[in-house]
Parts: sequence; structure tokens; C-alpha cells
Amino acid sequence: MLDQKRILVTGGAGFIGSHLCKRLVDAGHDVLCVDNFYTGRRQNLYELLSNPRFELARHDVCFSLYVEVDEIYNLACPASPIHYQFDPVQTTKTSVHGAINMLGLAKRIKAKILQASTSEVYGDPIVHPQTEEYWGNVNPIGPRSCYDEGKRCAETLFFDYRRQHNLGIKVARIFNTYGPRMHPHDGRGVSNFIVQALQNQNITIYGDGSQTRSFCYVDDLVEGLIRLMGTPDHVTGPINLGNPNEFTIKQLATSVIELTNSSSQIEYKPLPTDDPKQRQPDIQKAVELLDWNPTVQLREGLKQTITYFDRLLRDEHSPAA
Ligand code: NAD
Ligand code: UDP
Ligand code: UDP
Repeated sequence: MLDQKRILVTGGAGFIGSHLCKRLVDAGHDVLCVDNFYTGRRQNLYELLSNPRFELARHDVCFSLYVEVDEIYNLACPASPIHYQFDPVQTTKTSVHGAINMLGLAKRIKAKILQASTSEVYGDPIVHPQTEEYWGNVNPIGPRSCYDEGKRCAETLFFDYRRQHNLGIKVARIFNTYGPRMHPHDGRGVSNFIVQALQNQNITIYGDGSQTRSFCYVDDLVEGLIRLMGTPDHVTGPINLGNPNEFTIKQLATSVIELTNSSSQIEYKPLPTDDPKQRQPDIQKAVELLDWNPTVQLREGLKQTITYFDRLLRDEHSPAA
């Protein structure tokens, strides 16, 4: 096949990474996935494990990695607040040491490298919607800082390796993404609400539910990442990738209850520290530079995600599980 590449995906056993690996293998590339299984699972890669174009290695990106590839997608990092706050020092190490090692690798083998950054670099934003030019409003010493500041430092490293070593870098700032293979216990709004609704348990809204998020379906996001990797060398980002349709958390809860036909009631709980009030990407850059636009709207994406969690819960509770 023309243009077949060897591609490294760190964090490839996770939610987004597993979809990315699948897309890249399906496109005919050789994919090496490295993951330390901190939040990722082999089951996420079930379909790929027997594919000769796919290789899985247990490895922690905080340590050096010597492989030969053409492109690197650096996704390794716990992404949900519960997971990244469980061992915050490790979270910062993964972002920072992981970035240094993957950039060192990219430098040695002259590979293109893409960083999975995050809308969290904008913190609790006072500019709305968030454009890439906005520098953010981030608390450097709070419970979310290990993630936010770790990702900000990783961006700094990417741009310094670009300036100092002329590396081919791409930085994507990913906004809330959801879909099948999300971790059922990651504590996120979408996964919590669906699992609660399917079990007819109370839906836990933190705060009054008026805070907003913009939810991007995973297939759209993966398409954006692949397009960004394919851009000419001068396109480095950062580029926002997300769905600009904004919903309140209360609207999300109501949609989930309706789509699952659940008898769940809403229960209000305290808002976590530093929980951003509003978040919506300005995706003009992605539209212009990548010719990219999300195509899956929230109700459709939720249906797919509900089907996934429904199966997962049945499997977990089946006597054979
Ligand atoms: P995830 O937790 O499902 O995936 C992260 C993967 O990284 C897991 O497989 C985990 O085991 C692995 N990992 C963690 N630490 C590692 C280490 N030290 N060495 C090797 N592997 C390690 O999360 P996700 O939602 O798939 O997120 C993927 C990436 O996208 C992350 O970098 C995250 O910060 C970023 N992102 C995600 C979202 C989102 O809404 N899901 C939003 C913004 C940014
Ligand atoms: N590194 C790696 N694989 C490589 C090359 C480098 O994991 O193929 C790691 C190595 O641990 C190093 C880091 O990347 O510490 C940064 O490499 P760089 O060459 O930028 O810096 P230096 O080696 O001078 O510290
Ligand atoms: N949230 C909620 N109930 C839950 C889980 C999350 O109300 O059971 C809220 C959370 O406080 C936040 C929003 O949903 O305002 C999105 O949270 P998530 O963890 O999914 O993403 P992030 O805060 O990182 O955007």
C-alpha cells in the first residue's frame, strides 16, 4: 500500500487511543501501541490483538523508549478528574517526563509527533468561546493543577523542541470527548449519568447543573487528530478540537434519562473545586486548516454510548463474567 507508515500511539489502550489505533490499522498502517494500563485496558484493543499490523507493548512513558517509527501520537495520560487526581504526582510526571521522552525519541528518529493536549489548559476560562490565542485562567496549586499544568508544560516542551530542534510537532487541544470504550468508573459526566440511568440510580449533578460543556463524539475527534497529523510542517497548532454545541450539565442529564427510558431521579451534590463554569471551543482554525467539522450530534452519540455501556453492564453482571 502507498504511504503505509509505522505509527506509535502512546496511551493506545485507553478510550480515545483505542479508537485511534483501530482507525490507523484499518487505514493500512503498522501501529505500535504502548501503554502502562493505568486506566487503559487490553479489552479496548480486543479486535486488534490478532491483527499482524498491530503490536501492543506494556511500557510507562516516564521511561525512555527506543523504537523506530514515522509518526507518534502522544496520548498517554489519565484524563478524567478521578483518575488524574488519584496519584497527582504521577500525572504530572506522565505529562512532563512522558513528553520529554517522546520528544527525545521523535528528535532521534526524525518522526512527526502529535500531542493530545486539552481544553484544561484554558482552566476556568474568562474568555468565551475559547480561541487558541487565549492563555487561560489556571490555578497552579489546586487539585486539577497536576493535569492542567502538566499539559501546559508539555505544550511548552513541544514548542521548545520545535524552536530548538526544528521538530515536526502538532498540538491538539481536545475538548470533552465521549463515546464507546469510555471507562465506566471514570467519574465523568457522560459515563456517570449513563451508568446511573441504566441502573435506575439517582443521577448525580454536581452544583446546580448550569455549568456547560461541549461534547465531541470520539469518531469525530479521531478524524480531527488524523487530519492534524497530515498537515504540512508549518501547521503546528495548537488547534482546538471539539464540538462547539454547548449544553448545560442539567440538559445532558435530562437527555440521558430520556434516551435510556430511565426512572432515575436527579440528585444535586456539591460542585468540585475549580470545576469550570463554561466551556466551548472556537474551532475556526480546525475548520480552516483541517477542513474538519464534527458530524455526530449529542443525541446520536449518546445513543451509541448508551448501547456500549448497556452491553458492558450486562457482561459485568452476567454469571459468566
Ligand atoms: P484514558 O485514561 O482512557 O487513556 C489514557 C491512556 O494512557 C490509558 O490507556 C492509560 O493506561 C495510559 N497511560 C497513563 N499513564 C501512562 C504512562 N505513564 N505510560 C503509558 N501509558 C499511560 O483517557 P482518554 O480519554 O483516552 O485520553 C487520551 C488523551 O487525550 C489523554 O492525554 C488526555 O489528556 C487527552 N484528552 C482527553 C479528553 C477527553 O475528553 N477524553 C479531553 C482532553 C484531552
Ligand atoms: N529518549 C527516548 N528515546 C529515544 C531518544 C531519547 O526515550 O530514542 C529520551 C531519553 O530518555 C532522553 C529524552 O528522551 O532523556 C530527551 O532526549 P533529548 O535527546 O532531547 O535530550 P537528552 O538526551 O540530551 O537529555
Ligand atoms: N459532573 C456531574 N456529575 C457527575 C460527574 C460530573 O455533574 O456525576 C459534572 C462535572 O462537575 C463537570 C461536568 O459534569 O461540571 C463535566 O465533568 P467531566 O468530569 O465529564 O469533565 P470536565 O470537568 O473535565 O470537563
